[in-house]
Amino acid sequence: MPYNEIMKALKEEFTAKWNDKQPSPQGGLEDHEQLSVLGSGAFGTVRLCRHKQSNDVVAVKYLIKKDIIKKKQVRHVINEKQVLRSIYHPGVVNLVFSRKDLDLLYLAMPFVNGGELYSYHKKLVKFNETQGKFYISQAFLALDYLHNMDLIYRDLKPENILIDANGYIKLTDFGFTKKVEGRTMSLCGTPEYLAPEIIQSVPYGESVDWWSFGILTYELINGISPFHLHAKDPMVMFETICAGEYKIPHDFSPQLQDLIRGLLQVDVTKRLGHMKNGSRAIKEHVWFQDIDWHCMLNQTIDPPMIPNVKDPLDCSHFAKSQQMTITRSRNDQFVKQFEDF
Ligand code: ATP
Ligand code: MG
Repeated sequence: MPYNEIMKALKEEFTAKWNDKQPSPQGGLEDHEQLSVLGSGAFGTVRLCRHKQSNDVVAVKYLIKKDIIKKKQVRHVINEKQVLRSIYHPGVVNLVFSRKDLDLLYLAMPFVNGGELYSYHKKLVKFNETQGKFYISQAFLALDYLHNMDLIYRDLKPENILIDANGYIKLTDFGFTKKVEGRTMSLCGTPEYLAPEIIQSVPYGESVDWWSFGILTYELINGISPFHLHAKDPMVMFETICAGEYKIPHDFSPQLQDLIRGLLQVDVTKRLGHMKNGSRAIKEHVWFQDIDWHCMLNQTIDPPMIPNVKDPLDCSHFAKSQQMTITRSRNDQFVKQFEDF
């Protein structure tokens, strides 16, 4: 099936799920055994859980209602759930089930057991162009899928890219993903990956993801991201990003240098991928000329490495994270706020 046709079919499936807004059932995870903590972020902890009867494992994101309200993230988590339950693509995780009880919200996803791309990258320091291109092509397909669903991802970084048991990637963390037909304005993301137009608070579209895609490409192959130098001083970093002041490493091939220049373009109108269907300009860029996109989508290319996973419960690819403490309440103080979750 041609790529456009595949996207059209996926869009129909997505739209049907998106419009069918079902609130999560009430209840906790008493039917699951809670195993290791896989990761923790600003808004929650992700744990491996095993269904007591079926033995099925899932990665569950626990979100504390009180903290979400304190951090004014109610809209974001309701949105995260709606995105997770509507998306379906080999390059993204999706929702297995969701629940809510007095204090917590639960988002259960398939357990992607190879760990974060971030940790492989840290170990190797950097990927060579061939290795990097595999992960970057995969990330391209996942982002392009999201854009075709009118979603802007807004949080592309190696920590949110997981490796599955076959060595292919899956994007996780849709906390900042937004459905937009046109433009939006809110400020969110991770400083080193923020596009200039987000920093300047002008209305922006999906091109912000192509900027972050440029940062990711640069970081995976160079080892250090282009604006990392100023990581200790965000104000200086933001100024440097908006001025487009970065150096392209001399050891990048001329094709890769050209791709980076096209993606890390402060002027959105000149950025690769900026127009509707503009992602074709990236896909057809000379650096990707040896990529068979059809095989990439069907996952029939040998990945640069296959994670060593012993069994479905193997968490050895995840760094030990801290558990969170939850104080249990007697009644639900936040029924209204999370009605739509
Ligand atoms: P942050 O705000 O730091 O981005 P977060 O609170 O939004 O984090 P996530 O990024 O969704 O949380 O998840 C935190 C970590 O949990 C991930 O970086 C990853 O290591 C792990 N994780 C998330 N989803 C899965 C999954 N489906 N399978 C395995 N591990 C996962
Ligand atoms: Mg994250």
